[in-house]
Parts: sequence; structure tokens; C-alpha cells
Amino acid sequence: MKIQKVIPSGYCKGVVNAIGIAKQTKAEHPEEPVYILGMLVHNSHVSKELEDAGIITLYDEHKSKEQLLDEVDEGVIIFTAHGISDAIKEKVASKGLQYVDATCVDVLKTQNLIRKHLNDGDEVIYFGKKGHPEAEAVLSISDRIHLISSKEDIDRLDIVADKIFFTNQTTMSYLELAEIIDHLKERYPSIYIQPEVCNATSSRQKAIYELKDCDLLYVVGDLRSNNTNMLKEIGLKHGIKKVLLIQTYEDIDESDLQDVENIYVTAGASTPPELIRQVIDHLTAYTGQ
Ligand code: SF4
Repeated sequence: MKIQKVIPSGYCKGVVNAIGIAKQTKAEHPEEPVYILGMLVHNSHVSKELEDAGIITLYDEHKSKEQLLDEVDEGVIIFTAHGISDAIKEKVASKGLQYVDATCVDVLKTQNLIRKHLNDGDEVIYFGKKGHPEAEAVLSISDRIHLISSKEDIDRLDIVADKIFFTNQTTMSYLELAEIIDHLKERYPSIYIQPEVCNATSSRQKAIYELKDCDLLYVVGDLRSNNTNMLKEIGLKHGIKKVLLIQTYEDIDESDLQDVENIYVTAGASTPPELIRQVIDHLTAYTGQ
């Protein structure tokens, strides 16, 4: 049995940067409460690491960011790598709170592109995941942005405009994006398209698509992480027989290791390196290598 790590996999520059910003902010404000509005990245181990560093994560899946902010009266607020709406920034400022923005540069690039096209009078079609913070931040920019999450959503669109611009959430599947673009071109032949899957996401996805003789692929990451889920989807589309999303090595079920020869391990862009290492160590110990 052979165990190999897919390269690249794991942390991207945006996540490393956001974690660094959060820790730096706490170091600069040791006496004040420092909060992250939402999960800095979608990984509970990262949230725990930040909590140990004295940084409080404000997260409740049943509460909006506005509601979470109602619970804070002092300190510093950190905005996550996924981006933030202007309304939230204004609310933070109106409460007299300081803020630090850890939005990833790739997310900002897509947002700026959308703003430019809105200023030019375009309607915007945006391929993303409903409820995901990156998509929510983008949708807050204008009601001329139309969210689609599937080909069926394209059929339901009712846009009448001279100019339509299309782009996407940075962590979507590049394969699904290609299908969406084909379908969009049929519906709106003159649409202007700019794909925006970030380099970290596409390189991790393409590395899976290039795997040969893979019997079992473990994808290590949080169930809420979009880019982690996309890695699983790409593995299945590539025809890998068994693709399993696990959060830690403890999720490995040894019955899955029967009759497999080549095992690969990949991880989402928000998965800490030690979790990937633990999975590889556990598998290595199991095989007695
Ligand atoms: S996955 Fe891409 S967009 Fe998201 S934080 Fe990483 S580099 Fe930035």
C-alpha cells in the first residue's frame, strides 16, 4: 500500500495571511478584547488555535453578522478572509469599534471587478454558494448582482439588459464553472465572462485531476469549507472510486483501507498542516511502512 500527499494541498496564502493578521492584531491590543466576526477561515481547529491566542470568534449559525455585532461594545473586530459588506463596516464604525480587514486579496480583486462593471452599467451574474460569507459580501454590493449556484438557476434568470457581466466565487470548482459558462453563453450570447477561481483553489483542484491510479483519496478539511468540498467533488468527477472527506485522522475507518493500493491525501486551503501530517502518519503506521 502506497500513501502519497497531493501537491499542492493545504493552507493557501490568504489563510496564512488572515491568521497572521489576527495574531498580530491581538499582539498590538493585548489589553482589549479582539473579536473575529465569523470564522476566520472555515476550520474549527484554526478557531481553537486563535481562541488559545486570546482571540474570540463570534460565530453562531443562527445569527447574522449584524446580530453578532450587537453583542460587542468594545475592542477590535477582525473581518474574515471571505470579505465583508459596507453595511457591516459602517455598523462597526457607528459603534465606535476599531476594525482590521483580513479579506484575501483574491476576494478583493473579484469584488473590485464587480464594482467596476456595475459602475459601467452592467447587470452582474455571480456563480457562488448561497449563504457562504464570500457570496453574501458580494451580494451586499448591489441588487443588480444575481446569484446562481447551478445550471438550473441560469434557466430561471430573467435579466433584460444590454450588458451582462459574469464572474464567480473564488473557491468554486473549475470544472463546474466551465459547464456553467457554456450554459450561460447559450442563454446570453453576448455576455462578458471573467472566471475568478483563485490560483490556490484551481491548483489544488487540478492536482487531483492529474492523479493516476488513485484507489482512495482522503480530503482533509472542515465540512463547512467550500474549497474542501470542491476537492471532494473534483475527485469524484475524476472517477476516483473512493473519495472520503475527513476532518481529522480519527475519522479514518480502517475498513476503507481494505483492497486499496494507492492512497492519496489532499486538504482544503483552510486545513492546518498538522492535521494533514497526522492523517499521513496514521495511514503510514497502519500500513507498517
Ligand atoms: S482560497 Fe483563494 S480566495 Fe480563499 S483565502 Fe485562499 S487564496 Fe484567498
